[in-house]
This record gives sequence, structure tokens and C-alpha cells, in this order.
Amino acid sequence: MNETGKVRAGEAAPKGIPFYLPQGNECALFEHAWRNRLPLLIKGPTGCGKTRFVAHMAARLGRPLITVACHDDLTAADLVGRHLIGDGVTYWADGPLTRAVREGGICYLDEVVEARKDTTVVLHPLTDDRRILPIERTGEVLEAPPEFMLVVSYNPGYQNLLKGLKPSTRQRFVAIRLGFPPPELERRIVAHEGGVDEALAGRLVQLGQALRNLTEHDLEEGASTRLLVYAARLVASGVHLREACQVALVESLTDDEDTVSALAEVVDAVL
Ligand code: ADP
Repeated sequence: MNETGKVRAGEAAPKGIPFYLPQGNECALFEHAWRNRLPLLIKGPTGCGKTRFVAHMAARLGRPLITVACHDDLTAADLVGRHLIGDGVTYWADGPLTRAVREGGICYLDEVVEARKDTTVVLHPLTDDRRILPIERTGEVLEAPPEFMLVVSYNPGYQNLLKGLKPSTRQRFVAIRLGFPPPELERRIVAHEGGVDEALAGRLVQLGQALRNLTEHDLEEGASTRLLVYAARLVASGVHLREACQVALVESLTDDEDTVSALAEVVDAVL
């Protein structure tokens, strides 16, 4: 690590801290938010490093990380907890949000816009000055310890335009925007995560850029850093480069056959 806390590719991440190469000042901003007890919203396309960033920061700050992948059936009880019956007795089981509050952990709600609006409302008293979690079913009111932090992420891609976040929810968070890392950084990430040399990582990143620039096709999302890492891993394990790109970068991006052909042409042109 250098003095700003940035881990360079090729340098081992400190033991137990997941490797994360920052795009900018996000690590310092995260830490400031945590110290000031401010909830954080991380925006960015899928596969750009949001989850890794949170895992990295939780480990750096020495806090347990509790992650919830949000979906449209997620209820408030899934987050807070519920009564369960076992061995003929009823007992209370904390949900992940409650556990994070009790443990002073970092609760990460991935893709929070997927959760129903009535679910996100349970976050409100935790995300203002009160920092409390009322558990209606048990009558308990938990006060969040200073170490607790709520982090949510979402992908502002066009499929989420309608869903969005209610202003009353989003205005409770400080927000950081992440994009795909610039090519030089992405090359180091793909080399490190994919286990390939930097020259091959550079070619994959160049391909990723070309695929992201294909605007005339109706792709919902561009080739993510995650997919570039997948392609690299396949190559590192012995799959031929073109085949790796076909399965990791072409077929995974679209089902439309014309678009598959167009993407495959880009692969042929770049590699
Ligand atoms: P998201 O949560 O935005 O969908 P992830 O955090 O799961 O994306 O990132 C996908 C993968 O890409 C990670 O598992 C990691 O291998 C790699 N990655 C992306 N950005 C970075 C980064 N800045 N540093 C290290 N690895 C990264």
C-alpha cells in the first residue's frame, strides 16, 4: 500500500483485505462517511466494482460486512427479522439489517431499487439523526452504535429509470458515482483478478472499450469489468482467447442473434 492507502496491482493486498484498485477518492470518502455516521449510496453500472469496493472498505475499517441482494419480493421482515417456530417454540430471529445494527457492522443493500418501496421505508429512521431501528414485532428500538453504517448501491442504467429511488429515500444518503475504471486501471484489475499478464489484460480491456462504444445496438449494459475478468480467467485456465470472449463477452451480453454477430465482429476486429 502507498501512503494514500491505494493498493497497486501486482502488490499483494494487505492480508484479509480484498483487492480493490480505486478509481478516484472513493476510499477516503467512504471512510469520512463512516466516521461521520452518514449513510452512503453507490451508483454505477453492474460489474464496475461496487461490491468489491464495499468489501474492501469493510475489511479496512475492521467492520463485519452483511450483504443483502435486494429483489422485488424482499419484505421489511426479511431485513429486520421475524418470529420462527422450531421445536414447538416460537423464537425471534434477527434479519440481516438488525444483525448489522447490533454488531456495529456495515450493512450493504445491493441493488436497493429492486426492493419494494414499503421495504425501503424501514431504512428511514436509521438514515437520519435518530439512527434507530424500531422492531415493531418485538417492541424493541435499537440504537445504532457509531460503527454501524448503511451502504446501498444501484445501477442507474435505463431499465431502472422508472423505478428510481423515492426522493425521500435518496436524500438521506451521500452518493458516490463509480463508472468502469479507466483503461490503465482496468488493465491492472483484469491482470490481477483474471490471473493473466498485463499485455493480454490490455487487449481484453481494449476489446471491452470497443464493445462499450457500440451504441447502435440495443444493449442494456456494456461489457463490464467483471466480464473482462471472466474472459481473462477462462484464458488463464486454457480456453482459447476467441472462445473465451465469445462466452464471456458476447453471449453473456445479448440474446439477439444479430447483435451476437455484431459483437463477434468487434471481437475479431480487435483481437
Ligand atoms: P458490482 O458490485 O458493481 O456489480 P463487483 O464489485 O462485483 O461489481 O465487481 C466485479 C468484479 O470486477 C470484482 O469481483 C473484481 O474482480 C473486479 N473489479 C471491478 N472493479 C475493481 C476494482 N476497482 N478493483 C479490484 N477489482 C475490481
